[in-house]
Formats: sequence, structure tokens, C-alpha cells
Amino acid sequence: MSTLDDAIRDDFPILRRQIDGRPLVYLDNAATTQKPLAVLDAMREYYETTNSNIGRGYYRLAFAATDAYEHSRGVVQRALNAEHADEIVFTAGTTAALNLVADTFGRSVVHAGDRIVVSGMEHNSNMLPWRRLCETVGAEFVVLPGGPTGRISPEELAAALDERVKLVALTHVSNVLGTVNPIRELVTEAHRHGIPVVVDGAQAVPHWSVDVRDVGADFYVFSGHKVYGPMGLGVLYGRRELLADLEPYQVGGGTVKGVTLDAPVQYVPSPARFEAGTPNVAAAVGLAAALEYVEKIGWQNVQAHNDALVRTAVDLLAELPHVRVLGDPAAEPAGIVSISVPGIHPYDVGGHLDKSGVSVRSGVQCAGTFVDQLGLVGTVRLSFAVYNTEGELRQVRDALRTVEPGFWTREHPTERFL
Ligand code: PMP
Repeated sequence: MSTLDDAIRDDFPILRRQIDGRPLVYLDNAATTQKPLAVLDAMREYYETTNSNIGRGYYRLAFAATDAYEHSRGVVQRALNAEHADEIVFTAGTTAALNLVADTFGRSVVHAGDRIVVSGMEHNSNMLPWRRLCETVGAEFVVLPGGPTGRISPEELAAALDERVKLVALTHVSNVLGTVNPIRELVTEAHRHGIPVVVDGAQAVPHWSVDVRDVGADFYVFSGHKVYGPMGLGVLYGRRELLADLEPYQVGGGTVKGVTLDAPVQYVPSPARFEAGTPNVAAAVGLAAALEYVEKIGWQNVQAHNDALVRTAVDLLAELPHVRVLGDPAAEPAGIVSISVPGIHPYDVGGHLDKSGVSVRSGVQCAGTFVDQLGLVGTVRLSFAVYNTEGELRQVRDALRTVEPGFWTREHPTERFL
């Protein structure tokens, strides 16, 4: 049983939308969550009362906008339990944060003949920046397959670590199966070998209260839009001593102390060092409002609600002999249940659910190599948020009873592009 009141749905105006006369059942929260009024109002108020460019003008509005932006950084710092506000760098998203780390820190520690180790269940955003870095410098890209659910054990990681490995990049939670990595143990194992670790927290931060000091990673990243915040803003947490030594990523306005034509450029310290150009202040305000919204509900309640939905979904889907639940989502729930319907293309399953007003993600989930490892053309992912209900899950079960092969199964059974 869920622990959250269904009245929470009133906080999300989009849920009043109907699809073909039926209420929208939005179950693609791992792609992006819907936004509560608290976030929409905070952003609107910022634009109506405070909007101006930050750190650039000597007038009250500019000071207020700068304060709003730095206040938001403080909210993120507290939410992640980071020790210092300057360990929180705002980026455009998880992808941007990972590219930043790869192109700065990665380049400084990985050289020809070295190795980078990643897990087999990485999203392209935590796979391709490292793969490209390896190709650029002549390093070796090592992918650990993990167990049947993709989970990496500390023993499997330990077996891959030697003096050639200069960096480990791992997801905290798989966006494909919802598999949870034993991240603290994995970080400890890598650190035992003196190897830095980058963690992709995009699917963990929406489901429980992440404590970056407890995780222990050197870098930890997530996207605000998956945790009820607006699109266009992500977070890079980096340990202070590592950020202090890093070259800037992009350079330009806001990153320098002062520039003369005849002296070397002096860059400011983190976080402004890594936030070249005008930042997305309104999105930072929105993310802070989103985190405060979740804190008001209580992280434990959010987690208990999402866990209950995962268990209920697994039980309901077990009633359907033609549906396979992938992995073991109820073992350690993370708000995701993925299925396949053998003999039916995932786009046909997605299209069929859409006809019942249910929005899910179907395809390779931006993790084609992991879907290959699972031996599938694609998966169908149900992912949950605070406003989802058990009634919606029963609707999904009922709709799946009548799913049939359609255009994709008949015409393009092995094609995939999403
Ligand atoms: N990593 C994981 C695990 C994800 O689920 C996602 C979003 N699907 C990303 C990275 C990329 O996030 P963004 O598109 O917000 O940069």
C-alpha cells in the first residue's frame, strides 16, 4: 500500500490532462518527471520579480538574482549532504556534467595505455564520454558485464582493477532495469586501489535521499528534471580538492578574475570556474523548489511510495503469463519496472498502452549495449513518481491483457532507434 495521499496529484497541473477522454497515466518518470506547482510558481515568481543576470551588475536586482542562484546551490548542497557549496557545479544536465568530468578530470588522469572501467548497464551518457576519451588518448575501454541483472559486485570490480586502471565510471541505478549497484562498496573497492570514481546518480537521486559523503565518490552527477525540477539544469558534485586542481571546461564570461592581453588568464575557483556564460538561474530556482517540495513530503515517504508501486506492479504483472518482468526490480526497488512481451515489438507495446492513455518508455532506453547484453530488441519501462497510484498500475495490467503484434512486429521486428 502506498503511503502518500492521492491529493498530491493536485500539485501537478498536467495530470488533469486527458488522453482521448481518459486521464493521463504518466509512467515515464525515469525520462523526466512532471513539475509541481511549487516549481512552476517559484520559476514564474523569479521571472516576474527578480530576473537579471547574475554576478555581473552593480544594482539590487542583480544582487537578488545572484542570491537566488547561490541560495539554490545551498539547497542542493544540503540535499546531497555535500560538505561545501563550492563542490556543487550547475551544468545543463547529467550528460553535460559527465562530459565536463571526462574532458577535464578524465583527460588529466587517463593517458595512452591506461584503462577506464565502466559497467555494462551504463546509459550512453556515462558510456560515450569515456569511450571517446579512450579513443582520443589511446586508452583501453573496459566494460564489466555484471550479473544477470547487470549489478556489479565488489569482487567483479576488484578483479578488473590493476595499475592500468585510472578511472572507474558507474551508474548508481540502471535506467533500464532499475538495478541498484552496491555503490558505497564499489567506491571503497576502487579507492582501495587508489582509483577515482565517477557515479551517475540520474536514477538514484529521484528515489531516495543521496548522501554524497556516504557514497564516497569523487564525482556524483544528476539531472534536476528527473526529480521534479525543470529541464536544462543538472548538478555535478565534485570533491573540493579535485575541483580545485581542474582546468576549466568551457571558458568565457564568469570564469575569470580579470583578463589582460599580456598576462596569463587567471580563472576563478569552483564553482564559477566551471559555469562559463549566463547560467540558467530560473532553473536553479526551480530545482531548489523541487528539492524543498520533496523534503516537505519526506524522502522516506517518497521512497516507501515508489517501493510499494514497484512491488505492486511486479505482483500485477505476474498475473499476465505473456509478460516478462526483466531483472529483479522488487529485490531492491528503485522506481523502475521493465518488461518485455516476447513476440511483440516494444514500440507496439508502447503504442498499445498509449491508446489507453498510459505513457511509458519503449525501446533501447539510451543503453543499447545493455539491451544487447539482455538479448532483447528493446524493453518497455514503467517508472514511478509521487503522483502515481496503484489504480494506474491496474489500468496498465488491464491494458496489457489485450496487447497484440502490430506494425513494428510485422514490418520491422528487429528495428530500433529510440
Ligand atoms: N544517466 C542515466 C542513468 C539516465 O537515466 C539519464 C537520463 N535518461 C542520463 C544519464 C542522461 O540524463 P540527461 O538526459 O538529463 O542529461
